[in-house]
Amino acid sequence: MENHRKLIEQEGFSPKFGDMQAEDFRRYGHELINWIADYFENIEQFPVLAQIKPDWLKDNLPKTAPENGEDFGEILADVDKLILPAVTHWNHPNFHGLFSTSTSSVGIFGELLSAAFDMKAMLWRTSPASTELEEVVLDWLRQIMDLDEGLKGIIYDTASVSTLHAVAAARESLNLSIREIGMSGRDDLPLLRIYTSEQAHSSVEKAILLLGLGQKSLVKIATDEKFRMIPEKLREAIEEDKAKGYLPFCVVATVGTTSTTSIDPIPEIVPICEEHTLWLHVDAAYAGSAAIVPELQDCLKGCERADSLVTNPHKWLFTPFDLSVLYCRHLDLLKRAFALVPEYLKTSETVTNQMDYGIQLGRRFRSLKLWFIMRYFGQQGMIERIREHCRLAKLLASWIEEAEDWEILAPVPFALVCFRACPKNVENLDELNEKIMNLINESGEAYISHTKLNGKFTLRVSIGNIRVEERHIEKLWDLLNKRLELSKH
Ligand SMILES: *Cc1c(COP(=O)(O)O)cnc(C)c1O
Repeated sequence: MENHRKLIEQEGFSPKFGDMQAEDFRRYGHELINWIADYFENIEQFPVLAQIKPDWLKDNLPKTAPENGEDFGEILADVDKLILPAVTHWNHPNFHGLFSTSTSSVGIFGELLSAAFDMKAMLWRTSPASTELEEVVLDWLRQIMDLDEGLKGIIYDTASVSTLHAVAAARESLNLSIREIGMSGRDDLPLLRIYTSEQAHSSVEKAILLLGLGQKSLVKIATDEKFRMIPEKLREAIEEDKAKGYLPFCVVATVGTTSTTSIDPIPEIVPICEEHTLWLHVDAAYAGSAAIVPELQDCLKGCERADSLVTNPHKWLFTPFDLSVLYCRHLDLLKRAFALVPEYLKTSETVTNQMDYGIQLGRRFRSLKLWFIMRYFGQQGMIERIREHCRLAKLLASWIEEAEDWEILAPVPFALVCFRACPKNVENLDELNEKIMNLINESGEAYISHTKLNGKFTLRVSIGNIRVEERHIEKLWDLLNKRLELSKH
């Protein structure tokens, strides 16, 4: 031991073999946690959007890796000097672009610990803790969201990948031997058709691309004045396709679309799916978290009849990226689509082996962080926080509605506000609103993003950061009004 220690002192910072010494790990670990605590405490002092020019970081880093190991303290110092300026601070309470992130400190502890275990959850035998905790935690979440008991959960990295697996299971349900003989080089397959709204997330189309269905398989159904799929149009499209000899097989409806958080009318879509025996997948990547709040649970009405549903705790349930949950009524179909067990992974237990339910072999121990979060906040703690975000969004919307120079452009069912400036004497409102957005984002004071609704350039403000308070929304409203004054001239 004594000799070993000497060797470390002589040779510099890292020992010749093996990992960092436990003492160093402790010391630097404390330092790193302190660093993160300071970061969160002072986060409002940083510009929300990184203020660097492209290539700045690349130009400031050496072209080759260091020849010899360096002291971890030096590495951490470079985080301050080089990494921080290149960070866009998603955790800043005035990050309102896209969808705000909601990560919590207790979730970060979960990430840290799961990295320490570093298990690759493929078989139950290699990872009983991950396999079983995932099942329990996802059933807890299912209950809080008031989802049907028939829906069993499985964790993937992102909603894009959850939806990909849902569509694969839907295709498997057709019994067309696609697993065995594929889709190419055969003339016994009609054109498969999948339906979603024109407001759906691009991940639906990406699933089609990856599954070899081709964009020709995707039908985008028109939406109404509240950006919701029109069920009548869906029915017509399916009937037309059937008349042409096509094979409709799946509908992807959205609860909480990305652009406006609109809600497709699931209770009216369900009977259409049932009548034509179509798989119903619900994309609730964003709004699924809202369904833990009793007075918002209505948004998932009808989902008790869905075949699958995706929700992203990494979006709005205080979970560090990544953790997406696919609830599916027919996990056996997922298994039929993907299970492939090489000799060296064969085991004799009759247990759940998670590698059977998707394209990944190893899986991260993601349920640990969600378990930490659900226990630390409790159901009530999570509900209160989501409820508060929705209250703040409604508050901002009420200020916009009362103001002469502003207008709301979409309903606000959750915690996203779509609006624009509309002063009477300005001709080009698109140009004006884009200018307001750019001025705010360049200032580093806040970050907002945009969408296009009925051809109008629309500002989007998402409220979902765990640190957000009313004062941040007041600050944003003030910024918006000041930039509007500037932009008019
Ligand atoms: C964010 C979002 C997605 C994609 O989420 P990832 O986890 O990044 O793949 C899909 N659908 C909707 C409705 C979303 O809002």
